[in-house]
Amino acid sequence: MKVLKFGGTSVGSAKNILKVITIIKNISQDSDVVVVVSAVGGITDKLLNAANKAVIKDRSYKELFKQIQLIHLDIIEDLIPSEIKSAEVKKMINKRLDTLEKLLEGIYLINELSPKTTDKLLSNGEQMSSFIISEAMKLHGINAELKNSQELVVTDTNYTNATVNFNATNKNIKQYFETHNNSVTLLPGFISKSENGEITTLGRGGSDYTAAIIASALDAKELQIWTDVSGMFTTNPKLVKQAKPISHISYQEAVELSHFGAKVLYPPTVQPVLDKKIPIVIKNTLKPDDFGTYITNSYSNGTTSAVKGISNINDIALLTLQGNGMVGIPGFSKRLFETLSQEKINVILITQASSEHSICIGIQESDAETARAAVNKTFENEISLHKIDPINIEKGLAIVAVVGDRMKNHQGISGRMFSTLGKNNVNIRAIAQGASERNISTVISKKDVKKALNVLHERFFETKTKQLNLFITGVGNVGERLVEQIKQQKKYIKERLKLNLRVVGLSNSRKMILDDDAIDLKNWKALLENGEAASIEGFFEGAKNMNLRNSVFVDVTANHDVANSYANYLRESIGVIACNKIACSSDFDNYNLLKRLSVKYNAPFLFETNVGAGLPVIDTLNHLVASGDEIHSIQAVLSGSLNFVFNNFDNSKKFHDVVKLAQNEGYTEPDPRIDLSGVDVARKILILARESGTEMNLEDITNQSFLSVSGLASNSVDEFYKTLLEDDAHYQSLYNSAAKNNYQLKYVAEFNDGKAKVGIKEIPEGHPFYNLEGKDNIVMFYTKRYPEQPMIIKGAGAGAEVTASGLFADIIRIANS
Ligand code: ADP
Ligand code: ASP
Ligand code: MG
Repeated sequence: MKVLKFGGTSVGSAKNILKVITIIKNISQDSDVVVVVSAVGGITDKLLNAANKAVIKDRSYKELFKQIQLIHLDIIEDLIPSEIKSAEVKKMINKRLDTLEKLLEGIYLINELSPKTTDKLLSNGEQMSSFIISEAMKLHGINAELKNSQELVVTDTNYTNATVNFNATNKNIKQYFETHNNSVTLLPGFISKSENGEITTLGRGGSDYTAAIIASALDAKELQIWTDVSGMFTTNPKLVKQAKPISHISYQEAVELSHFGAKVLYPPTVQPVLDKKIPIVIKNTLKPDDFGTYITNSYSNGTTSAVKGISNINDIALLTLQGNGMVGIPGFSKRLFETLSQEKINVILITQASSEHSICIGIQESDAETARAAVNKTFENEISLHKIDPINIEKGLAIVAVVGDRMKNHQGISGRMFSTLGKNNVNIRAIAQGASERNISTVISKKDVKKALNVLHERFFETKTKQLNLFITGVGNVGERLVEQIKQQKKYIKERLKLNLRVVGLSNSRKMILDDDAIDLKNWKALLENGEAASIEGFFEGAKNMNLRNSVFVDVTANHDVANSYANYLRESIGVIACNKIACSSDFDNYNLLKRLSVKYNAPFLFETNVGAGLPVIDTLNHLVASGDEIHSIQAVLSGSLNFVFNNFDNSKKFHDVVKLAQNEGYTEPDPRIDLSGVDVARKILILARESGTEMNLEDITNQSFLSVSGLASNSVDEFYKTLLEDDAHYQSLYNSAAKNNYQLKYVAEFNDGKAKVGIKEIPEGHPFYNLEGKDNIVMFYTKRYPEQPMIIKGAGAGAEVTASGLFADIIRIANS
């Protein structure tokens, strides 16, 4: 004999009911079966909602009633083709619907909804579904006997969550099945009756329990729970995409997981079958061939993983009782728990520090105010004497628990759990670990649950792949290259580096898109065009609210306001990668603040492309400093534009024409003064000086400009060009002075003994700067370990493709950190 329970989704449509019938047909070929069914999916919630509306005189309960009516009549219509038969079944169901409607009207009129009436109302869901299904089974050749489980399952009168009287119930079940030996028996789950015949229910999700009670009473060979997922998963599959079904799990593990939120199994279900060692199998009605989960007595089944699953309960409140008067005096906890028990408040989690100064209890948020009133009343006297404080209640919380029988044999699980949460900026409010060491629970903010489940899942079950979530702003020339490079490399990076790169936010100056499920990069331009209006604040809020793990903001703009938003990102533990030089060359205090926030919130702040585009200049410098080297001097050519100008300038040309050419070929900013004045180079050496450990501002850098006096004083680009023509002799003399010794002119940035300067220099043949081509940059580090022969980094220092690859390298650095 096997007991099969089908949940709400499994009987949620005619199509699914037909699947259920096929499954029953197959199994009943080799075994007698008892089938327990839930209400049609969503009906119990709808009934409750309707009642909750009716009781507050909200007429829209009628809408819900109509939906309930329609759902059932539609299923009958689709399931039962014969018109006569269909009409017959509809007639029966309409009768029930009539009583249901009257009940709701009554609630509306008298303005009252007792738990007793709630049970009366809810029981209709299972009554209707079981009737419809039994008729459909008959039509498909299964001669199923429909038995009302209310005549078998006897409970107390704790309405909505009644306690089963096992003596009476087991006797009834045995007696019934001894006298009825049908090969298929069908019963509604969830519903029961009290000893004096009142309708009761077994608690939300209670159909699982009904099935377990029957399986135990009949010594069934197996209890099968058929649902809408392929087993008990490593964590809630609706919140973590990477969750996987657990093939084997022990009863105790299943109990822990279900207690802590794995809704797939109603927690009391395990107890009745555990005593008899009846295996529970969780199967997917929609994919019956999937293996599912076997819940049995043995826990190992060859697996070595200590953590079996991670679960969560939302809507938790933390209740804290504290005060000096509690220390060393027995009886406080007893009174506290007695009070909660009298109010029928379920205690989900308890922690007490050994100082006994406070005791902390996790309860359902909906019980919080009742608990507050009751506990404050119980301790009225002590509170008035200031021995203890009035109870403190914190809401908006959730519990996340890791579960596994073998955790007790493994060290460091809690350490890994807490450090993973901490690293991802999930604040832990309370911790509890059962003495069995089968469960470690943390109380965290509800808003962090999805992130916490995902990072813990990644930590304990997906050690191989890490996810990185990118918010890229500024998809112009360089940004576009970056997105294309990510698109191209995604597969390789996933396979080789075990890194799942997801672009979840994109913005340019006009539009932005944010997508939790990752933006489809094949189509990103069109998606962005159809996005919402861009805003710096909106993009940040979006990233913050998504609250994804390993989030990184990438700034590929040159915008001041975007640079000013970095601190916001870092404070949310979102890493920042800046191509934009503004932040790092801004006031030292601001640079320093960003550095400190990065450490405090464990959020990387990288800006390799600020100097030398894709060249690994800052990374190399950081490594030198971190390994204990000392930077004595940095000599560098850091401007591709100035290089181009001086490489093309000789006394056969006017300086003016060479600058014009550089501008026309895109080597300078639209305003060439930005490059020619040396400010851009000064910013770069400033950043290198700071990264070497020197506190410095832009004003501290000596800028020996080579421009003529009138060139420096010019007020517009046109005026500037005019001065270049007028002062050509000045520029020619710079060239001639160098040329007469066969020297080359280079615009050099220097950092020596804590001081920095930028300016033009005559470079002799043989010097590493002499043969610098095109837009190449070069940086030489003279250090304690490289005193005479410097460490040299050289290569293209500008260009969209190399700059994008420099950003990409920063992304990989974050992933590896
Ligand atoms: P039924 O109506 O069949 O009783 P439930 O909705 O009660 O189904 O339970 C199945 C649901 O439980 C799944 O759809 C899933 O969203 C949720 N769930 C939560 N945690 C887990 C988990 N660890 N494994 C499987 N399902 C889970
Ligand atoms: N229909 C009930 C509920 O939704 C019982 C069940 O489905 O297990 O809670
Ligand atoms: Mg269920």
